[in-house]
Amino acid sequence: MTTWVPAWDAGTGEERARALFDTAFGVAPDGVWSAPGRVNLIGEHTDYNGGLCLPVALAHRTFAAVRRRGDGTARTASAWDASVVTALELASVAPGAVAGWTAYVAGVAWALRERGLPVAGFDVAIDSCVPVGSGLSSSAALSCSVALALDAVNALAQDRAALAADCVRAENEIAGAPTGGMDQAAALRAEPGHALLLDCRDQSVRHVPFDPAAEGLALLVIDTRAEHALVDGQYAARRATCDEAARLLGVATLRELTDAPGDAEHAIVALDDGTPDGELRARRVRHVLTEIARVREFVALLDAGRLRDTGPLLDASHASLRDDYEVSCRELDVAVEAARAAGALGARMTGGGFGGSAIALVEADALVTVADAVAAAFAREGLRAPAFVA
Ligand code: ADP
Ligand code: MG
Repeated sequence: MTTWVPAWDAGTGEERARALFDTAFGVAPDGVWSAPGRVNLIGEHTDYNGGLCLPVALAHRTFAAVRRRGDGTARTASAWDASVVTALELASVAPGAVAGWTAYVAGVAWALRERGLPVAGFDVAIDSCVPVGSGLSSSAALSCSVALALDAVNALAQDRAALAADCVRAENEIAGAPTGGMDQAAALRAEPGHALLLDCRDQSVRHVPFDPAAEGLALLVIDTRAEHALVDGQYAARRATCDEAARLLGVATLRELTDAPGDAEHAIVALDDGTPDGELRARRVRHVLTEIARVREFVALLDAGRLRDTGPLLDASHASLRDDYEVSCRELDVAVEAARAAGALGARMTGGGFGGSAIALVEADALVTVADAVAAAFAREGLRAPAFVA
């Protein structure tokens, strides 16, 4: 039996958040705001290197029902555990001061206030159909839905790029979860029918047409449901290696090495000084630089209406993440290999890695066949059953 995780329609999500708000706080909210999860088509581990990435918003969204209060208190409830309402004083929010998921909510209020914006206390009830902890960015869906709500109920009129930056600060500094900015940009700035080409150097975006159905295709999202320890340390280690390489090469970010032809190749050769550290650094940097190049090629194909030809780029991205960046895992490798064997045009892990999700570009009429084949491969390998997000 293959498990599918369906998206709620907007009405359902709103109703659920309203009902939860009523149960938790006994009044009606001022309104309900929402933000989606995302998958990244290509451009992985490039965001914190000032690079390019290409996420698309999922149909799956997180809904935040919010009511502004007159005081400085924030009270939070989530459908996760509807019986628990947490209260805190906004003035006491600081790095390290808030534990659990409430930190994502409090962090947004904190980031807005850090910019001197007048954010009053509030009550918030959260419900969501975004799979949590699956690399589909439920955390940004949460922080961004709250950012839209606080912007509206406090009449702040901030633009979405500024709100995305606030959500990045909320996650990094208050929730203590390192994030490079792609997730928040996708949640707040992506448009239907388009992928979001995000330039992480200056946060500029371009909306690139992306409509698989129009070409008889579909994007299968595979949640491996793998649980791996040590993920945080690995992410921090990759970032540190990239920072160190940039320092050795005398550039602000690795992205600068993709601006002039030949620089990337020279940098990779220069880093490999024959020591194990040098060899490792060169491989990590090779992933980042070739991945940025793949984003450019992928976008060129989309611009030319050639989504069907992007499969090899997806495959190459996966190989680079697996072999050079070493952030894949058995579940992700099984997922992409099984998808390809069942006819996918291309497949790759998406998100940070070490578990989470994979994507496969498939013929629309083969969606269920490929999903079934992936589920069968997981069963054969003795892995926990995956879920499919559609
Ligand atoms: P991802 O963003 O890939 O889903 P993260 O580990 O970055 O994974 O974020 C998951 C965390 O975000 C959860 O542990 C929780 O703290 C918070 N979160 C996400 N969605 C919800 C929700 N609906 N209710 C409460 N907390 C949530
Ligand atoms: Mg996240």
